[in-house]
This record gives sequence, structure tokens and C-alpha cells, in this order.
Amino acid sequence: MIELRTPTEIEQMRPAGRFVAEVLTAVTAAADVGVNLLDLDALAHRMVKDRGAESCYVDYHPSFGAMPFGKVICTSVNDAVLHGLPHDYTLRDGDLLSLDFAASVDGWVADSAVSVVVGTPREEDLRLIEVTRRALDAGIDAARTGNRVGDISAAISAVAHDAGLSVNTDFGGHGVGRTMHGDPHIPNDGRPGRGLPLKPGLVIAIEPWFLHTTNEIYTDRDGWTLRSADGSRGAHSEHTIAVTDAGPVVLTARD
Ligand code: MG
Repeated sequence: MIELRTPTEIEQMRPAGRFVAEVLTAVTAAADVGVNLLDLDALAHRMVKDRGAESCYVDYHPSFGAMPFGKVICTSVNDAVLHGLPHDYTLRDGDLLSLDFAASVDGWVADSAVSVVVGTPREEDLRLIEVTRRALDAGIDAARTGNRVGDISAAISAVAHDAGLSVNTDFGGHGVGRTMHGDPHIPNDGRPGRGLPLKPGLVIAIEPWFLHTTNEIYTDRDGWTLRSADGSRGAHSEHTIAVTDAGPVVLTARD
């Protein structure tokens, strides 16, 4: 079911968006060579507690997950790109880290993701991150009344294809509201002018993620972490946005 939010409800969603942005900013700043993924999760956990927010991940147990997630933030390193389960791993120079975080504040959810390199970056990794960011910007720019979901999808995939990247459509964006995942699904590839018409009040997460040299993934033995089929690295950029009469509003914008 597609739920449309009133302008008042969209205003009520802003604290969740701001909080998710704050956590990603703090965890990104803490991520460095020699820092353990479990410490990053602990930092996010502390912030959730201090804010009186609710984690969307701790008890998350969808059909594709082997067990409840049990952590509050996704930490995907190098060939891991989505759903990275924090584990005892100490970040090394040049690691590509993708952080995905969702929380509920005052009963409203926001969801956002960012990729960074710790220590000395490889040029190709910076470029991959930049492509996911540009694809996200293009997707957000297409999230306008009168367009359709396919316009968002096509805008994302156009950026990927221009950069010579292929797109996986198994995991993509989604409706966001009282819960983390709702309708509609926002694939990262599609045809312009197709799919659900975008109306004011639609709140969605848009989340392009790409891998260097494949679009195939497999699930790690931990039952959660999704890794590239060929070992190449991945990057991920995500914002929760509201479609409004005045254009797209990014609820999870970071300073
Ligand atoms: Mg997310």
C-alpha cells in the first residue's frame, strides 16, 4: 500500500531525518584506520539510546535474513556493499566502508547511507563513491510530482551506465514512514515514464549502490552481509526524501 503524508506529517519526520544524518556524520568521523567495526556500532547504539530513538535494525528479521540483525548500523567493507553485519574487524588503510543507518524518532523512520574510504584512498574507489552520489542526486532530482518511479530509476541507471557500471535491481529504494520498508519499491534501473506516478506526500528512500566490475552479489556466511560475486568493491549512497509541491525535500541531508 502506498501511503501519502500530509505536509504536517512530513514536518514531523524531520527530526528522524536530522538524527539519522547526525549519526552518519559521527560514525563517518570516527571511522579510521585501526578502528573496529564493533566500536562504530557501539557509537551508533549510544547515540540511539541518548536520543531516545529506536533502532530499525536490531530486531529486523525479514525473509532473506538468517536471524534478527542484532546491531544498529550496517558496516559493509570493500567487497561487501549492503547489509554488512558489524563484526570484529579492524579497519585497514584504504578500506572502502559503506554505512547504512535507519532509526525511528517520535514514531517516524528515516534511512540513509554513505560510503567513505579510511586512510589512503584508491582513485577508483573515490570515483565509484562519486558515481553513487551523482546517481543519488539524479534520482532525487527526478522525484518530482508528475514524474513516475521509472523516471527516478532511469535517472539513477543513466549515471551508472555513463560510468560503465552495471546495475543490480534486486535491492533498491523503498517507501519510508512508520516502518523502514514500505511500498513502492524504487529499482535502481528502469524506464522513464513507467511505474507509479509520484504525488506530493510520497516519502521514499532512494539508494543507488554499484560494484566496480559486476552486478552480482552473494550472501556471506554471517547470513546478512551481501558481497560482490567477483570480489570487486562496492559503494552506496542513500537519502530519505519527500516529494512535495515545491520539489524533492531531502530529510536526511548532512551538513
Ligand atoms: Mg538504508
